[in-house]
Amino acid sequence: MKKIDRILTLRKAVEAITRGDFTASIPCGSDEIGQLGKSLKKLSSQLQKQSDKTQSLYKILVEYNFNLRLIDVLNHIYESFQDHLPYDRISLVLLDATQNEFKLHWTRANYNKLELETGYSISLADSDLEKILDTHDMFIIDDLSIYLQQQSESNLAKAAFKEGIHSCLICPLIATGKLIGFIFFSCRKKNIYKKLHKDLSLQIASHLALIIEKTLLYKNVKLNKQLIAQKKSLEQRVTHDALTGLFNRPAIFDILHKQILRAKRGGIGIAIIMIDIDHFKAINDKCGHLTGDAVLCEIAERLSKSTRSHEYVGRYGGEEFLAIVSPYNQEGAIRAAERFRNAVACQAINADKQRIPVTISLGVATSNEQESLDENLLLQRADEALYLAKQKGRNRVELFTSCTKRSSAKNKKKNKLPTQPSKND
Ligand code: GH3
Ligand code: MG
Ligand code: MG
Repeated sequence: MKKIDRILTLRKAVEAITRGDFTASIPCGSDEIGQLGKSLKKLSSQLQKQSDKTQSLYKILVEYNFNLRLIDVLNHIYESFQDHLPYDRISLVLLDATQNEFKLHWTRANYNKLELETGYSISLADSDLEKILDTHDMFIIDDLSIYLQQQSESNLAKAAFKEGIHSCLICPLIATGKLIGFIFFSCRKKNIYKKLHKDLSLQIASHLALIIEKTLLYKNVKLNKQLIAQKKSLEQRVTHDALTGLFNRPAIFDILHKQILRAKRGGIGIAIIMIDIDHFKAINDKCGHLTGDAVLCEIAERLSKSTRSHEYVGRYGGEEFLAIVSPYNQEGAIRAAERFRNAVACQAINADKQRIPVTISLGVATSNEQESLDENLLLQRADEALYLAKQKGRNRVELFTSCTKRSSAKNKKKNKLPTQPSKND
């Protein structure tokens, strides 16, 4: 090739390298132009390595942003930097929650027999990690056997040496100014780590620290969400009946108590409805207890669907329900009770492949006088009205009035029907 052509080829190669293309052919030789070619080749391979390094560092963040899995990022580091940084093993050590101990969180090596397994705990006093803790600077061990002569107590160094490790480069992981752990690059050869490895290892460490911090934050957010969900389900179990999903007896009592206090404070009234399924025992006897349960659930569902905002319904006892309704006047309360009655009676219930017609009886008690705003008195009155509804033929609504008490008492004495099941049924 003519001198001028060789110079032209060299010029083209320089232009390609400037563009980041390291594939151009570079003529070499023993004369001056050939020597220049050799130097340019060296520079090109050096720049290519540098570019690969930058790409790999960039990929750490890209990988992380794509999948949020720390383990993938760590594997990426292990697989990407072998050409730039010598290691036979990489280990990630993190400060544990107590802040007193470090734990081996992740490790990967190109040999099998590992002394230091994931979960291995390292006490701060064990090694020179304490020194790094103060200086936040990286630390190089050139020859582990010499190091062990000075640090004979270090279990960590002993275990690493047993694995055949001879040199280490330990980088602190610092997130928002705090040390959160270390990344260890270890090699089976002595005197491996030099100053030139410092920049890259520190860059890897700073990327990793950022990702770990984010991952831990993310874990905490996830944990918080789980805790909130658990708390909600626990609260639901405490206040709701397991079979019907309605408020349970303590919860509906609690609501009643609060509503009475509210009524007293606001000078407003209150209306409650005691509800009992008609001839429910007969359904159980005829169709079985499981079908009885299904009927009970369907009635609960219909009652629940018929409640309006600021109205509450709960399971008061076995097949009895208590509703707190609005408006609080007698007409409004009777209308609400009719709404419930109709929701149950309007359509037979489909259970166990059969259609079971079911009705309910309802006793309404209202009060807007301070002296009768009392839970027990109201419940007793609603119960009296319910008793009357049963007596008058069931599938009906009765309102407690002063006459109700007298007539139901008279009837209770005369014939002991109908009996009310115990609240614990
Ligand atoms: P009345 O019209 O007079 O109210 O008649 P009744 O048959 O509904 O009343 P009774 O008090 O004689 O029977 C109530 C029945 O409700 C008896 C009890 O076994 C049943 N029961 C209570 N709780 C449950 C439950 O959770 N599931 C089922 N399947 N049955 C229940
Ligand atoms: Mg009943
Ligand atoms: Mg009953």
